Amino acid sequence: MPIDPTLPYDEGNIFARILRGEIPNKTVYEDEHVLAFHDISPKAPTHVLVIPKGAYVSWDDFSSRASDAEIGAYVRAIGLIAREAGLVEPGYRLLANVGEDGGQEVPHLHVHIFGGKPLGPMLA
Ligand code: C5P
Repeated sequence: MPIDPTLPYDEGNIFARILRGEIPNKTVYEDEHVLAFHDISPKAPTHVLVIPKGAYVSWDDFSSRASDAEIGAYVRAIGLIAREAGLVEPGYRLLANVGEDGGQEVPHLHVHIFGGKPLGPMLA
């Protein structure tokens, strides 16, 4: 289903349920503002999803409404997780699917961290 940006945040989305502890996850990092966990269907040897704990749907939503503390924590967490996973060398990929054209499936902002193998060109 396309994500309609005019609708209110969907409290029933899968990541909201993970944040409420209703669905288990394999957590790799957590702080006051951020949760990161292994993707349930990994597309690379390392495939981690990093989400803000706040109810943000998209990058537009997050960048316009989140506090500096939330945004700072999110960016730092992504770097830390990649570093601790040993991905800084030889490198890794960050991906955020946003909205309908971006192919976003879960209407809670998330960044994918892929690594652990050569990932090739980004787009076919
Ligand atoms: O960016 P996009 O919205 O397409 O990505 C959603 C991701 O959430 C998928 O990679 C999917 O495997 C993952 N997922 C998950 N755990 C769930 C449901 C979806 O890791 N319970």
